[in-house]
Amino acid sequence: MDRGAKSLTETIMLATSTRIALANPASVLKPLCEHLVEHEAVITEQDGATVITLDGSRARIDLSATALDVTVEAPDVATLIEMKRTIASHVVEFAPKDAAPQMRWTGDGTGPALPPEFRILTVTGVERITPHMARIRFKGENLARYDHLDALHVRLFIPPEDVSEPSWPMVGDDGLLLPSPAETRPLVRKYTIREIDVAASTLAIDFVLHEDAGPGSAFAFRAQAGDRIGMAGPGGRGLKAAERYVFLADETGLPAVARMLENLPEGAVGQAFIEVADAREEQALRRPAGMALTWLHRGAAAPGSLPLLQDALATIDWPADGPSTYLWAAAEYAAFKAIRAASRDKLRPERDQNLVVSYWRSGASDEEHVAAKKAEAAKG
Ligand SMILES: Cc1cc2nc3c(=O)[nH]c(=O)nc-3n(C[C@H](O)[C@H](O)[C@H](O)COP(=O)(O)OP(=O)(O)OC[C@H]3O[C@@H](n4cnc5c(N)ncnc54)[C@H](O)[C@@H]3O)c2cc1C
Repeated sequence: MDRGAKSLTETIMLATSTRIALANPASVLKPLCEHLVEHEAVITEQDGATVITLDGSRARIDLSATALDVTVEAPDVATLIEMKRTIASHVVEFAPKDAAPQMRWTGDGTGPALPPEFRILTVTGVERITPHMARIRFKGENLARYDHLDALHVRLFIPPEDVSEPSWPMVGDDGLLLPSPAETRPLVRKYTIREIDVAASTLAIDFVLHEDAGPGSAFAFRAQAGDRIGMAGPGGRGLKAAERYVFLADETGLPAVARMLENLPEGAVGQAFIEVADAREEQALRRPAGMALTWLHRGAAAPGSLPLLQDALATIDWPADGPSTYLWAAAEYAAFKAIRAASRDKLRPERDQNLVVSYWRSGASDEEHVAAKKAEAAKG
């Protein structure tokens, strides 16, 4: 659906405005509009102003020689703040880097506020579903935006241990995130929503309990009812319709594969290969009869050290005139690289879709993994 046209009613009630002084405002407005169109915004001209409609909110931007005058309107505070931040962050992105644009929003929804895509979750229960997997159940509020099969993962904000009042992310009057003290700032890790019940305001996440635990795994080891963490998102790309499905994952991708298997149409066919340590780590996964599931055991070898998933991919027939295929793979970085390289020989661009990603990197924290990926992308 066209996100710009969606649900903007005639009864817009809240508004916030700012003037953003710029040396060359037109040179910022143009890329801003081009970029937002890629995110399904609808851009129109009204009385000489540019009007951006996106996700149930509207921004009117009047261009002069020295400034952009922006008014954002939306039916609720969360949507208002989201649009305000969309405009503010992209103005900063497209303005010259040596002159940070100043903005002070007035009107509704001003003052520090939690970002609209952010929720505070409270632990309600912890269950060891296998020796190295903890299912943690949470209660939250207003979870509808996280219930999407095409955006399965979230960013968890894990407070440092022993900090009772964490500095949750807050949006300031300029629409941008406020700085926060490092000692109380949560650390961010990506996880997959394994189960969600919007009506009951609950969700569950499966955490791998691994050695050399960082904040994510350490939280799962110590979590108990009443603990709080933050959540933002959702993100990523999930299930796509195809005539055949091929899923490859280690334990970190298992929650996503499980969720996709549960939600495939009854007649779906394909194969799922999941690498775990041994038979004690296997789980009963609900799936259509046509989806074969193979558990791959690495035994005592370190996670991410064996080519089990790429070897499994090599066994799959991929005839030129075979069914259209959706390949989804998530694992440690070395397996990801091997699967991505091997899949290039198999995938037929006109028939197949794929998502092949690294979920973690052996010997690197998530921050180091993300930094390394950025450096590799910059090298080309
Ligand atoms: C989109 C996405 C969705 C994800 N979903 C899930 C999920 O649902 N459940 C889940 O458990 N993980 C999931 N992951 C993987 C998870 O984010 C990483 O494993 C993350 O590094 C864990 O953070 P940490 O704080 O425990 O360890 P870090 O601080 O990131 O790392 C500390 C050390 O632990 C090692 N390490 C990290 N992960 C593992 C592992 N799995 N096995 C062995 N050693 C490891 C690192 O190499 C490093 O040496 C997902 C990742 C992505 C990108």
